[in-house]
Amino acid sequence: MTDVIEQKALITIFGGTGDLANRKLYPSLYHLYSKGSLSKHFAVIGTARRKWSNEFFREKIKEAIKDIKGSDEFADDFISHFYYQSHDVTDKESYVTLKDLSDELDKKYHLEGNRLFYLAMAPNFFGTIASRIKSEGFVDTKGFHRLIIEKPFGHDLASAKELNESLRQAFREDEIYRIDHYLGKEMIQNISVIRFANSIIESLWNNRYISNIQVTLSEVLGVEDRGRYYEESGALRDMVQNHILQIVSLLAMEVPIKLTTDEIRHEKVRALRSLRVYEGDAVHKNFVRGQYGPGILDGTKHAGYREEDNVDSDSNTETFVAAKLMIDNFRWAGVPFYIRTGKRLAKKATQIAIHFKDVPLNLFSEQKSLAGNVLVIHIQPNEGITLHMNVKKTGQGMETMPVNLDYAHSSQVGMNTPEAYEKLILDCLRGDATYFSHWDEVSLSWNFIDHIAGVWERTKENFPNYKPGTMGPQEADDLLLQDGFQWFSVE
Ligand code: NAD
Repeated sequence: MTDVIEQKALITIFGGTGDLANRKLYPSLYHLYSKGSLSKHFAVIGTARRKWSNEFFREKIKEAIKDIKGSDEFADDFISHFYYQSHDVTDKESYVTLKDLSDELDKKYHLEGNRLFYLAMAPNFFGTIASRIKSEGFVDTKGFHRLIIEKPFGHDLASAKELNESLRQAFREDEIYRIDHYLGKEMIQNISVIRFANSIIESLWNNRYISNIQVTLSEVLGVEDRGRYYEESGALRDMVQNHILQIVSLLAMEVPIKLTTDEIRHEKVRALRSLRVYEGDAVHKNFVRGQYGPGILDGTKHAGYREEDNVDSDSNTETFVAAKLMIDNFRWAGVPFYIRTGKRLAKKATQIAIHFKDVPLNLFSEQKSLAGNVLVIHIQPNEGITLHMNVKKTGQGMETMPVNLDYAHSSQVGMNTPEAYEKLILDCLRGDATYFSHWDEVSLSWNFIDHIAGVWERTKENFPNYKPGTMGPQEADDLLLQDGFQWFSVE
């Protein structure tokens, strides 16, 4: 157990009355407080357009943390650090009041000028807020200044560049923390340990021993009330550009010389640079898109995507993507990385399956049961790893049977696996940007995605093409079948 160090900072949350702030940020801040990472020397300003008082805001914070065990006892002290400032981010004048409050709290809590700005609101405001933070002197203090921003980071490479340039007017690259909450998940961070702390794994982690890698991020829910956003984004931009390509880069990267932010990023960027960019027909060959139709799932009737609120009745937006990615470097040449993600699928899970090549000669070939070795990394809802192997069936003869060696992470560390947001906020307070996306990664990902999106936008797909409760359209299975593989079932 590492020693807990108190982080001194003023945390300003833009969008302080929103869903993300209530569901994720306030509970995460409470956890950091209960563990001592936030203690006496911190203050939080929530800003949004509504005219709330400090008292009302504090009651809302209390409400947001009420389900956390043991929070009753400390809630009053915790919420006393919270302040509310009604503020329209497009109105220059209200930054003056916000700046005065910031300076006052800095003095009151001895925050040493450390400032973290969390932009928990729609991305079209990011540029305005960043330039006001700069012009109104919020970052003229002597401490650190860091900016956390939420996805989506742009809609394509051009808009991402524009957004980045507007942020860079006020913040250096090393002050910008682009959050990808998947990178805060325990088992995603475990990928580096599984790979680099186990010689039996790392020595096999290449195209001589691995036949293919499969990454699945599947959801049971449909688009819910996010139709308007989703129509613009689709699964490709919402899930593949960020979360999936981040996971692929962690799986594919070379061994960094040290586990420092810069060295890990350097290797992730190199992996993304090796990603084969598809053009024209290659997009149709290697990428499959799907959209859910109406159907029954768990006994409940569900509308198709085109019937959801704020969705075009003739929508060409994909709610499912499967693809075969190729990493053209010495380690991975010839090894497909299959990825898939979608809504209204049979199971909610995030899982990575690493399929090892078969033994060179099957001495047990008369038996059908000799299964390939697969290492499964369970990210969520289960956390752990499973190694699928073959052993001898007890008794006479040499019959084989498959067994699973399981490590269930959640049961090892108890119930308190830190939430991704809690870890990432603490990382940011500590100045550790390892599990945030660097601009180089974001721009390479967008470049890759733009090629796919461009082809898809020019061709209309025959949607809907999958039923709720399935694992997507048949073409997603065919993508693997044509290479002699199958999707590993989601466990
Ligand atoms: P939300 O609509 O619930 O909240 C938006 C907040 O912005 C509200 O507090 C609102 O009052 C404030 N706001 C809007 N216009 C304003 C203005 N002109 N001036 C000042 N305040 C203004 O949105 P959300 O779900 O909390 O999402 C916020 C951001 O986080 C979005 O970029 C979203 O894509 C991203 N995000 C959210 C989630 C989630 O779980 N909710 C997950 C991932 C990413």
